[in-house]
Parts: sequence; structure tokens; C-alpha cells
Amino acid sequence: MTPIERHQEIVNPMLTSIEAHSTRTAFVIAEQEHSYAELHNRVSAIRRFIRARIPAQEKLIGILAEDHLDTYAAILALWAEGRGYVPLALGTPAARLAQIIEQSGVRTVLGASIATPIEGAKVQLTSEAPANGEPLEPCRLSGEEVAYLLFTSGTTGRPKGVPITHRALAAFVAAFEALGLGIRPSDRVLQMFELTFDLSVMSYAIPLLHGASVLTVPGDALKYTYIHALLEDRSVTVALMVPSILNFLRPYFDEILCPSLRANLFCGEALPLDLLEEWCTCIPNARVLNVYGPTEHTIFCTAYEYQRNAENGSSNGILSIGKAMLGTTVGLVDEHGNWSHTGQSGELTLSGSQATLGYWRDEERTTSAFIHPESASPQRHYRTGDRCSIDEDGTILYWGRMDEQVKVQGYRVELAEIEHFARRIAGGSIAVAIAVTNQFGHTELVLVLEGPAQDKASIINRLKEVLPSYMIPARVEQLSTLPLNANGKIDRPALKRQFGSAK
Ligand code: AMP
Repeated sequence: MTPIERHQEIVNPMLTSIEAHSTRTAFVIAEQEHSYAELHNRVSAIRRFIRARIPAQEKLIGILAEDHLDTYAAILALWAEGRGYVPLALGTPAARLAQIIEQSGVRTVLGASIATPIEGAKVQLTSEAPANGEPLEPCRLSGEEVAYLLFTSGTTGRPKGVPITHRALAAFVAAFEALGLGIRPSDRVLQMFELTFDLSVMSYAIPLLHGASVLTVPGDALKYTYIHALLEDRSVTVALMVPSILNFLRPYFDEILCPSLRANLFCGEALPLDLLEEWCTCIPNARVLNVYGPTEHTIFCTAYEYQRNAENGSSNGILSIGKAMLGTTVGLVDEHGNWSHTGQSGELTLSGSQATLGYWRDEERTTSAFIHPESASPQRHYRTGDRCSIDEDGTILYWGRMDEQVKVQGYRVELAEIEHFARRIAGGSIAVAIAVTNQFGHTELVLVLEGPAQDKASIINRLKEVLPSYMIPARVEQLSTLPLNANGKIDRPALKRQFGSAK
């Protein structure tokens, strides 16, 4: 049993780690190093600030997702005070921010250096938290407190709130530890994710638990070049990435060499085997793991270790997502929610200690996403919407989505959400969003409208008022009538064939 398995939460082990590693570097943010002692001071100061300024009944607090030491310190301070955070990405349209504030019930938002007004909430700057004072006592958590609440794209124009408790997060940490990567204080770990994306939580929490350094990527940097620089110049040793980063780096593979990287994890999207094989020449000493999981099951919950110079499990050129990690049970169901048999493909289900309690204040969505195939058992299983097959030794192959959810640079996008807003903006015209692969191998969104010509630029601009940037179509196409399939439904594959290459 690892130390974490005995815990219902990771906050106290983390506070202990922060104190124990005071002389080491906790963060490298925009080229600046911050020690664990500095982090400790900021966490204590912000804890006092929270106690003094935010009413105790406010359990969920918004955090402006800046690339700043205080942003991370505020997360840890909230956890230590038994409260959770709702990350708010900078640049999110005001209307969407207001919706998240309203849905989550957040009243206070903490900013590190930016105090942009947010409708429905009071923004407080943590820079106002004084740095001195007595050390604070360790905190007491039951494990049932919400550690974070993330909002992902929803099909109806209303984002879905996914709350994750400390207990689920501790279960993730235990499962991660069981992978045997042995994170240590000398590690330098890449944190390339926006805080609204749960892969960020692994990227900062795991290193902090071990006294390792977290190397962040500033929001305004050109992501892939910055990552390249960190990998080589800062000798990153552990990196979790989304596969689409490799598409951006591919033209430079010949120039990239990262011998210091000892563990490279991929998550968030299907990982093409040929792309990975090419990348592996740049990372000669790294163990490579393809990990998988939805936000609803805390960060990731299955893992496959890639074998160099050997046969690897794959489906249609996509690397296997491996086996369930510690504490997670996987299954496959057919369209009626009945168990499928080994060897057949079906919808992957997940259950176990990493599961969310359900969608935030949304009983209806929770009921439809979780099933109880064994009526006698209270065990809930989350339907992932991912088509998979599982072979006899439990190895899972990934075949693709069963619905219209796509990934754009790792971000989860429901095409129906774009269509919902596009229809309203385009005066009720039929609007179909598709995801295509452009000539550089990147996924991009295309909006296809039926009917008379419309002002495309104005449609894009109005979409920008309601949707985050990764959900904005790269272009708008117009057809007098949309193609239909034999069932009379819009023929999306035909649209993808027609508009599949960038123009
Ligand atoms: P998110 O909730 O943003 O983490 O997205 C979860 C979805 O991303 C999953 O349901 C899959 O469709 C996809 N996904 C995550 N990891 C992988 C992976 N390693 N391989 C294939 N698809 C993945």
C-alpha cells in the first residue's frame, strides 16, 4: 500500500511535502524559479486571506487561470481550507463566464494579478494577501469535499459541470503511483495544460507531492515551441502531453533530442502509432505510456506502456489504451446498456473510486450518463461514449467515438453545442459542425450552413461572443441543401469528404 492509499485526500501529504522540500524549486513559471519555501509562504498567506475575506459557506471559489505562482498557491490554499476551485480560463467570452458562475453558484473569484470584473461574482486579488503570520495548523478533510469543478462542452449549449472530490483525486494519485514511474524530487515535470483541463491537475499535483519541479507553459506562448524549449533547455524528465502537440512538433522531429525525458505520457486523444514511433527517436530514454480517461473519472484511469522495437496493441493505427488502472473497473455495453462479451466491441464503461458523483446540479444528465446493468448491485457505471473492445487479458483497444463529440488539441467539444449557437446566430438556418483533418494533420472545425449566402465573418464573430476559442470553426461553408443519408439524416461523412481538406 502506498502512503497515498491510506489517505482520503492528498492535501495534507502535499502540505507535508511542501514543507519538507523548502529549498528545492517548486515551479518554473515564465523563466522564473519559485522555491517550495516561497510556495509555502503564499499558501499560508492565501489561507488566511480566504478565512478573512470569504464567508465559510462558500465552498466553491472561482480561480482565474493565470500562469502565476499565486494561482497554484490559491488552489492549494482552497484545498487546505476544505474548499474547491472552479477554474475560469482567461479570454472566455463574458456570456460563458457568467453562465459558469451561475451554474456553479460561485460568488467569489480569486485572481493572482488580474481583477477583470466578472458578472455575478466578486473578484479578489491574492496579491493583497499579507505575507506574514503564524504557521497554520494542518487541515481536516473528510474526502467528500469537492476539490475542483470543471465545465466541459455540453450538447445543449449549457456546459456540463463535473465535480471531483478529494477522495476521487486521492484514488487517482494512488492509481498513478501504482504505474511505478517513481516521481522523485529531482524530476522536472511539464505542465502544459490550461487549468480548465483536468490533465493540469496531474501535471502540478503529482510533482508537488514528491518535491519535484513543475515547469509551466505561459498562456500567451506559442505552445509547441515553448514545450520544445522546455524539453531541451530545462531538461524536462516527465511530461504528460496531448498527441496533437506531436503534430505541431513533427516538422522539427529531426532537430529535437530530449535524452533527459524519462517518462512521456499521452492522454486526451487517440494516439497514432506511426506518429509516436517517429517521435520516439527524439526521446530515446523515455518510457512511453498512452493513458486514457474522461474528466468524469478523474484525469485518467487506463494505461498502456508502449514497447519500443516490438509489436504493440493497436486498432486502425491507434495505440491501445491498455488496462484499467488500480481502483477502476472497465466494461463494455451494447446500445441497450447490456454487457457485451470479450472480443466484441461496445461502449466502454468505467466504475470505481475515481468516479465523479454526477453532473453538477443536473440530475437528468447524471441519470442518462450512469447505468446500473446489474439491477441487484448499487454499482454505477459511467458510459464513456467511446467505442472499444477488450481482449482476454483485459487490454482495451480504442475504435473511436459513438457520438458527435470531438477533440480539438485535446479539448473536448460537442459539435451539437456549436450547432446550437450557430443556428441561433444564422437565423434558424440548419447548421452542421464537422471536425476535419487539415493538410498539416491538425483537427479543425468547419461550420456548414444550409440556405442562402450569409455573412461568414459576422457569424464567426458572434460565435466568439459565446464560445471559447477552441470551439470556433476555422471556416464557414454554405450549401443550398445539405446531403442526406438513406435514413433521411444529414450525411456528416459526406460533408467531411467534401470539406475535409483546408482551402
Ligand atoms: P476529457 O473529458 O476532456 O478528458 O475527454 C475524454 C475523452 O477523450 C474520452 O472519452 C476519449 O474520447 C478521449 N480520450 C482521452 N484519452 C484518450 C486516449 N488515450 N486515446 C483515445 N481517446 C482518448
